[in-house]
Amino acid sequence: MSLLNSMNPPLKFSSFYDAITYHSQCPMCHNPLEINDNRIVSNIKSYDGEKVHQKLTFILGDDSLTIDVDTELIDVKIGQPYNPVYSIGSSTVYNIGRGSTIPSSGIFIQGFNIDCMICCLFSYTLQMILDMNEVKLAGIYLNSETITVESEGIVHEVRNVYSTHKTEYNSFTKDGGQKSFSLPIVPLDLQAPKETISRIRKLIIFS
Ligand SMILES: [Zn+2]
Repeated sequence: MSLLNSMNPPLKFSSFYDAITYHSQCPMCHNPLEINDNRIVSNIKSYDGEKVHQKLTFILGDDSLTIDVDTELIDVKIGQPYNPVYSIGSSTVYNIGRGSTIPSSGIFIQGFNIDCMICCLFSYTLQMILDMNEVKLAGIYLNSETITVESEGIVHEVRNVYSTHKTEYNSFTKDGGQKSFSLPIVPLDLQAPKETISRIRKLIIFS
């Protein structure tokens, strides 16, 4: 993991690969995280005898965008729906809109999620910025991280949104009660999430 601007969120990753492997496992259940976004129709890994190559394809309206994780080469097809390659065990979700989405020039921003599919208690969102004049990746940023903790019958959800420098805190009780607060960013301690929760709750009391 190598980060630029680590003192000044939103974090900019030095590579696409660093971004998608920012957290190698779920801090809550320690299972591997997965790229999980219903706009991604293809996530193919192939092995050329030396290393694993990975390509992700997004369907965006009638357009498709493929990024090679290793080389960061971008392939954009405007108005040409992509024919997904189905592999055994793939759970492809199709979500095709209408019309062209990807501009042919300027800047294009596309976000996607990386989640724990086992416990569903942790996820993070990345934002990739594409320079469409040169059809290349201009940057990839950590947009947000969300962690959910249950403690004493209350479900606490903390979402740190680095693009807006806010911590969005929601609590849910079994009887249907819900509270929401927005705070200046509180660092997430993923090793001790309950510490982060108690810190947030103290800030709310004194706010
Ligand atoms: Zn998990």
